[in-house]
Amino acid sequence: MRIRVDRDKCVGHGRCYAIAPEVYSDDERGHCVPPAVAIARDLEAQARRGADNCPEHAISIDARRSASNSTDRGDPTSRS
Ligand code: SF4
Repeated sequence: MRIRVDRDKCVGHGRCYAIAPEVYSDDERGHCVPPAVAIARDLEAQARRGADNCPEHAISIDARRSASNSTDRGDPTSRS
């Protein structure tokens, strides 16, 4: 699972990183900083909760990696 944040939509509510602090963080202006690499499977539910609670719909999730390989733990070097 990979996460993207549309920086034009993110206004810095902070709901994503308040709800899912193990997935999202904030920059110096309070805007969301998503993980730079694919996240581990055990954080996927938290990632979705954070995305679902963004009032600006700024977060998009690409779940293709985890859907195609049940052993994928988010290692960015495992596949491209
Ligand atoms: S909840 Fe949405 S708008 Fe607020 S900081 Fe997170 S991504 Fe940005």
